[in-house]
Amino acid sequence: MSDTPRTLPRCPLSRKCGGCQLQNMDYARQLKYKQETVVSLLGKYHRVAPILGMERPYYYRNKVQAAFGLTRSGEVISGVYQSSSHRIVKVDSCQIEDQAADRIVVTIRKLLPSFRILPYNEDSHRGFLRHVLVRRGFQSGQIMVVLVGANPIFPIKKKFTAELLRRHPEITTVVFNINPHHTSMLLGEREEVLFGRGYIEDTLCGCTFRISARSFYQINPTQTERLYRTALDMAKITETDTVLDAYCGVGTIGIVAAGRAKQVVGVELNGDAVRDARVNARRNGLENIAFVQGDAGEYMVELAGSGGKIDVVVMDPPRAGSDMPFLQSLLTLAPSRVVYISCNPETQARDLRVLTQGGYRVTGIQPVDMFPHTQHIECVVCLEKRA
Ligand code: SAH
Repeated sequence: MSDTPRTLPRCPLSRKCGGCQLQNMDYARQLKYKQETVVSLLGKYHRVAPILGMERPYYYRNKVQAAFGLTRSGEVISGVYQSSSHRIVKVDSCQIEDQAADRIVVTIRKLLPSFRILPYNEDSHRGFLRHVLVRRGFQSGQIMVVLVGANPIFPIKKKFTAELLRRHPEITTVVFNINPHHTSMLLGEREEVLFGRGYIEDTLCGCTFRISARSFYQINPTQTERLYRTALDMAKITETDTVLDAYCGVGTIGIVAAGRAKQVVGVELNGDAVRDARVNARRNGLENIAFVQGDAGEYMVELAGSGGKIDVVVMDPPRAGSDMPFLQSLLTLAPSRVVYISCNPETQARDLRVLTQGGYRVTGIQPVDMFPHTQHIECVVCLEKRA
């Protein structure tokens, strides 16, 4: 565990925002709390290694999402939705978000009135700008700004983009995303590149990755490298191994693993992420990795049905965890090792029951603090097939 850092002054928005649920604990306490949570959920399977905390647990988020709205007096505000409501809490700077990204959001907020751009109103469905998403590659320095509009009509987009770039020459790409839906989904399907290449690149564990607006990318790159190293050390991949990277996003884990493996297959639902993953494989000069777009459970069922052979499965499902078709097929495929990365130890515990009852034993548990000051817990579990 790292040294306890000096705690920053408490965030003035902590009660309204609700994003940093653990602010009332100093960082050492937070780590202890997360460790104890993992022990209570997974401790019966194996000893839990001490959680890997951050040395400087601030400004770690490489992605900032700001909602836009108007106050009653007509002032443009941007920030986060107040917990379990649709009221926007104004945020100028946040202690866990990238500071360069926060500054860009504030600039956009200040620019809107002079360009006569109105924030979108979720109740009246009037107005235009719904959200701004900023992503910064911490290694590459590249910055993507995504302007999310409620309709495709953005008449002064050229002038607006030019002014934004004049004020922030560090921005490398600007994307206009159109989200006309009345949903809580941030991004719509249609997008138009207003400046640059429409994606950023970043480096993790020595490999370079292209990340589009709609692709998943881990939000804490410093800890992601430690997470991936932990997972790959546990997987003990050798050059005779065929590896499955399930729920692979833009292919990061599989691509880092491919250097040590015979063959890697990645499976992912999001089409944009799969497109990025294929480019990423070529970008890193790899020929022993392929990606399949589809539901991971369905893919596993097919693979098990056709008598496929897999030596190692690395799985990293979303918060809801995996599903029975996936887990059952995994048991049929019977890889010698499974590394299960999870951002929700409750669903992980549920899924581990199935795997341990189906012939696997847990050989390692390592929590990694990916989300300091929030209640979210990330945990890597290694399983091996019982002889
Ligand atoms: N391993 C990656 C991504 C993990 S996030 C990384 O470290 O960056 C989980 C990923 O699972 C997301 O990219 C999401 O799009 C994908 N996903 C969600 N449901 C899925 C499903 N049913 N089948 C396959 N992929 C799914």
